[in-house]
Amino acid sequence: MVLPIVAYGDPVLKKKGKDITKDYPNLQGLLDNMYETMYNAYGVGLAAPQIGLDIRLFLVDTSAFAEDTGLDEQEQAYLKDFKRTFINAQIIEETGDEWAFNEGCLSIPDVREDVFRKPKITIEYYDENFEKHTETFEGLVARVIQHEYDHIEGILFTDKLSSLKKRLIKGKLSNISKGKISVDYKMRFPNQKKKR
Ligand SMILES: [Zn+2]
Repeated sequence: MVLPIVAYGDPVLKKKGKDITKDYPNLQGLLDNMYETMYNAYGVGLAAPQIGLDIRLFLVDTSAFAEDTGLDEQEQAYLKDFKRTFINAQIIEETGDEWAFNEGCLSIPDVREDVFRKPKITIEYYDENFEKHTETFEGLVARVIQHEYDHIEGILFTDKLSSLKKRLIKGKLSNISKGKISVDYKMRFPNQKKKR
């Protein structure tokens, strides 16, 4: 089932997510719905707060990036097959010199800005079978994980912009929260006026 994606301005996007346990109600059904919702919106990642749940859960599938002709073959091949479910994730380490990448977010349609992040991360998480992993990721995969991880920490990529950039997109963000935007997937807008 495709779920509505929560738009910018909803308080759930500002909440720090809580850990969940193996017996979280209908976890498999929730994961199926989240994957369906992410693919339906052509996203490469989706975090639980974006469907209204303040829990530490997010998904990543970077196969859409594999078409990017600007990348070398090895990275393309890696991105093509990269699909993971991250539960109760904790980033342990972020290293290297920060690099800029033009990020977007399904909760903030039509806004894209350069965001600086470190290139290499080590993260601890549980997979969909509640098996624990500690892994190190680099490049675009790390980038997507960092963006989704921020969601479960209550942080949006727009929070990381300069105050000038923030001022420039303020009106656009306010319109998104009111639903004054055209988007081709289902969304839920916090400040939309009720239709009579
Ligand atoms: Zn996002």
